[in-house]
Amino acid sequence: HYRCRSAFKLLEIDKEHKILHPGNRVVDCGAAPGAWSQVLVDKSVGFVLGVDLLRIAPLEGAVFLSKCDLTDPATHRKIIDLLPSGQADVILSDMAPNASGIKELDHQRLVGMCLSLVDFSGTVLRPGGNFLCKIWDGGESSLIRDRLQQRFQIVKTVKPKASRTESAEIYLLAKSHKSNNAPN
Ligand code: SAM
Repeated sequence: HYRCRSAFKLLEIDKEHKILHPGNRVVDCGAAPGAWSQVLVDKSVGFVLGVDLLRIAPLEGAVFLSKCDLTDPATHRKIIDLLPSGQADVILSDMAPNASGIKELDHQRLVGMCLSLVDFSGTVLRPGGNFLCKIWDGGESSLIRDRLQQRFQIVKTVKPKASRTESAEIYLLAKSHKSNNAPN
């Protein structure tokens, strides 16, 4: 019943790494068409907020911000306003920019988007919270991995079986967000 096969990647990652828990406030970045949000609702996490540049068709149990750019500070303010107590327990990103076909350029763009999401996470993700993002692997992957290592206790690279082996797509999983005041 999932809107997209990508649901199986999230199911697989969560089964292995236990990132979602009952009661969690979860932000699903790049949520359209909404399959990851369906998984979140099925798992009865506490609050599901999906955000995408595109329109996301309504889903019972989820709140959606359609036509919102996650690199725009105005979107960040809307997310904080909608989250209970203004904080998230988990931030997920399956965002992907429109591919230009130039591999290195697409890679750099996606890494840039994820770096900005890590920065936003500094203000919205509670200490101890978890972060998962998709990147296309390449020359600048270490930039995002290093930044995650500064801000989280544990960082892992995950390649779900449901992700085609020939694709450059990998997921970076960062667990246990350090408190904002912790020295790096
Ligand atoms: N996880 C989704 C699901 O299970 O249905 C599939 C996500 S799809 C691979 C990637 C999405 O990222 C697209 O819908 C695209 O519009 C969105 N996206 C790309 N850039 C974005 C941005 N700057 N802000 C918000 N969403 C963005």
